[in-house]
Amino acid sequence: MTTTRRDLLTTALTAAGAAVTPRLAEGQAPDHDHDHDHGHDHGADHQAVPSDPALRAKALESVLVAKGLVDRAALDAVVDYYERQTGPRNGARVIARAWVDPAYKRRLLSNATAAIAELGYGGAEGEQMVVVENTPRVHNLVVCTLCSCYPWPVLGLPPVWYKSAAYRARSVIDPRGVLKEFGTELSGEVEVRVWDSTAEVRYLVLPERPAGSEALSEDELAALVTRDSMVGVARVSAPEARA
Ligand code: FE
Repeated sequence: MTTTRRDLLTTALTAAGAAVTPRLAEGQAPDHDHDHDHGHDHGADHQAVPSDPALRAKALESVLVAKGLVDRAALDAVVDYYERQTGPRNGARVIARAWVDPAYKRRLLSNATAAIAELGYGGAEGEQMVVVENTPRVHNLVVCTLCSCYPWPVLGLPPVWYKSAAYRARSVIDPRGVLKEFGTELSGEVEVRVWDSTAEVRYLVLPERPAGSEALSEDELAALVTRDSMVGVARVSAPEARA
């Protein structure tokens, strides 16, 4: 049996006076050896134990609460914001509004931060937004070459691939190749523009409104808009193609 980071974290968790969940306590019982002859499904047993990052977060939270540095209710509010209140559905509403309201679209392209705030979205990681428009001649792709800057108020937290070294490097070196791997093939006539998001300025792509969506309502249009289309790695599919 080896001492893993998980064991150390669990020790820290317990020492900090955290409420150890019964499953976690069971998984970490001192007599729980790792011989594989003890009759239960080890795979399921391991799945019941939270991941290392989850354990680390719990340990940190417990220490901070125990020291009186943070309030649990404040943490719950933050978690609720990122789990349920933000995400790509916010961005989709922005895009759908721009598709149905030309005046809104003009405001969005000239002052994205203010136009996005009209719909109630803004704040941390979205303080200065720029929206770039896809057209039949221009396709925009967003990356953060330095790290993972991303417009949280309209897209939520970035997907793993957005943070990967491969995406960050290759989007600049070979954007058409990257797009192709995402299933987006562009003709040679289409200009590709790559935008490097930073801590100061974050980009959102206004995808082309798909053909065949003329009769759809704003809400129905919003339902078509995907996260990937707002990062620029995909197009928005026509409604019939999604049926
Ligand atoms: Fe970044």
